[in-house]
Amino acid sequence: MQLREGIIVKSQKYQENSKIITLVNTEGLETFLVRGASLHKSRNFSYSQELTKIGYDFHSGRNSFNILTTGKVIESYGGIKADFNKLNDALLIIEATNQLGIHLSDFSTFYQFLDEILLLLDLNLYHPYYLLIFRVKILYLLGIGPVFSKCVECGNRDNLIGFDFLKGGMKCNECDNKNTIYYNQEVIQLLRFLYLNKLESLSTEVLEKLPNHYLEASKFLDRYYEHFLGYQSRASKIIKKMKLSEN
Ligand SMILES: [Zn+2]
Repeated sequence: MQLREGIIVKSQKYQENSKIITLVNTEGLETFLVRGASLHKSRNFSYSQELTKIGYDFHSGRNSFNILTTGKVIESYGGIKADFNKLNDALLIIEATNQLGIHLSDFSTFYQFLDEILLLLDLNLYHPYYLLIFRVKILYLLGIGPVFSKCVECGNRDNLIGFDFLKGGMKCNECDNKNTIYYNQEVIQLLRFLYLNKLESLSTEVLEKLPNHYLEASKFLDRYYEHFLGYQSRASKIIKKMKLSEN
């Protein structure tokens, strides 16, 4: 029997000992009831955890949840789960997937990308830029790709001096209106590089040679997400608090 495949982005306890899982696949986000999944001894336990790639089958529940009938773990991302930083970033990635999925139309491309980025995070040494790559690249799939290569006002490709958050792109020195422009060129160039280059060419060797502007680039993306999607990650706020209280 050919199983379907998906990555679990959310898992919640349901009733006495079942779970409701949300997974993403090449067609979209889907929700299933997994009976007995919160019992550690249950065979349903292993394939109902967040951040797990599973093969599955289901039958349609009448008037209620679709019910998972078969499941098997394809990838449990042991490399991610063994590293606190990797786990933080992976949880932010699946949270964003779960929250922003409604804005996606091309799930086929998105799923392939998510699958690849999680595998890179799992197998390679930790690098914070994988999260940046995910966050900046999915903007394109969300239909709100930033315009890095030309002036959003006049189309000029030269003398681009800063990024206008209201317009979602660069402005040239002719169209600069001073008020809303972000001028840190190094951060802009870093994000532009991660946005435009294919994932295959962003190896760990390449990432290690890039300048360290992680915090600034993250703030840039927070601002962009908030402006275009009204999205603030709950998990990232919690993680920031945890990091503050550690110091
Ligand atoms: Zn211009």
